[in-house]
Amino acid sequence: MPGNLTFDALKSLVTSGEIDTVLVCIVDMQGRLMGKRFLAQHFVDSAYEETHCCNYLLATDLEMYTVEGYAATSWSGGYGDYVMKPDLSTIRRIPWLEGTAMVVCDVLDHHTHKEVPHSPRAMLKTQVARMNALGLTPIMATELEFFLFEKSFDELRKSGYRDMEPISGYNEDYHILQTTKEEDVMRPIRNGLYAAGIPVENTKGEAEAGQEELNIKYAPALDTAEYHTISKHAVKEIAWAKGRSATFLPKWASDKVGSSSHVHQSLFDKDGNNVFCDPDGEYGMSALMQHYLAGLIKYAPDYTYFLAPYINSYKRFQKGTFAPTKMVWSVDNRTAGFRLCGEGTKALRIECRIGGSDLNPYLALAVQIAAGLKGIEDELPLDKPTSGDVYEAKKAKEIPHTLRDARETLRRSKFLREAFSDAVIDHYARAAEWEIEEFDRAVTDYEIARGFERA
Ligand code: ADP
Repeated sequence: MPGNLTFDALKSLVTSGEIDTVLVCIVDMQGRLMGKRFLAQHFVDSAYEETHCCNYLLATDLEMYTVEGYAATSWSGGYGDYVMKPDLSTIRRIPWLEGTAMVVCDVLDHHTHKEVPHSPRAMLKTQVARMNALGLTPIMATELEFFLFEKSFDELRKSGYRDMEPISGYNEDYHILQTTKEEDVMRPIRNGLYAAGIPVENTKGEAEAGQEELNIKYAPALDTAEYHTISKHAVKEIAWAKGRSATFLPKWASDKVGSSSHVHQSLFDKDGNNVFCDPDGEYGMSALMQHYLAGLIKYAPDYTYFLAPYINSYKRFQKGTFAPTKMVWSVDNRTAGFRLCGEGTKALRIECRIGGSDLNPYLALAVQIAAGLKGIEDELPLDKPTSGDVYEAKKAKEIPHTLRDARETLRRSKFLREAFSDAVIDHYARAAEWEIEEFDRAVTDYEIARGFERA
């Protein structure tokens, strides 16, 4: 059970008055929690069966704009309802909010009661089911990096995001002294998430002033995506409660290191053995792992959009910053797009280092499982690993470097269209196009500063 409360346990807590509010949430295209706050009694009496939301929730941008050009919904289609169907195995306490529990929902078509195909949760479930059909379970972990700021979200917004002071004054990578000073925010995050049933491993300072990393234990892919989304939400909520703010923008300042979300992945069989391991294989890798990794590498340009979905995502990809763009793998080398970790142990896994902290984990995991699966199905051969500073590896191919390019590789991807359907890929290609259109309309500080006097 991914949550930590059964429905019966929730009912008892509602009866005893310990829980009075249930957050009923779906995950939107941006990987955010959207939904309603239910009076707990009403939820356990009837709303647990289903509730409803406007279907624009899977067709808006970050600012909740009603974006035109989607086949799935529109003004002419009347923006009707989706069914929010609570997945009762996901009920958990939200200890950092008083008297509150949360449930994650599937998004169903109002008429057919089938899952909406472009719902991120449905997309991940579909790819997991394809892998399960081979007797394999994708076991994954995502790392969450973010920056903490001294001031609250409201203060920063009102200042026009001008007065941005990170919570620490210097690079705090693995720094125990500096991170002690941040414990008023980070300790409630670790303990709150753990009490919500999320297997937190640790937090640490990262390689820039105010930058943090949160690590969560590996789990089946759907649980991992749920952990990621709820944790990201918790970081913002707990920072807010402490009068601070947190950002998952991949690059909040051009002269600061960016924030990523590395994805660790392996496949387990029905007995819980890591089938990536073969002591007789090269680097301890099984043939299956080699095919999976070859698929991940081959299709990286096709799915880059899902690892870097905004204009800002691409600002992170700078040489010498630990944000790799080369479609090669390496043995424990942080300059390559794909890093072999845990060599010689049963924790053998591949880490994809391309994704930014703004990725939607449901989508990022879904496309990588699909790419690995395609590698397995086609028995793709794996190239030799690259070593040294991969930023300087001239022959290594690159992933797309702009959202415009990533949208093109997404749109043209036969592999993604086969794995997810034309309708789903067209939907996300429109989302990418909208981000580009909006940015093309914007006049930025950069342009004013550069050209106001000198142009
Ligand atoms: P790093 O030093 O790169 O941060 P860690 O040892 O902290 O590496 O592990 C990173 C992540 O890898 C953790 O979230 C851990 O749970 C996850 N992990 C460990 N074993 C596996 C595995 N077999 N499959 C997927 N993820 C795994």
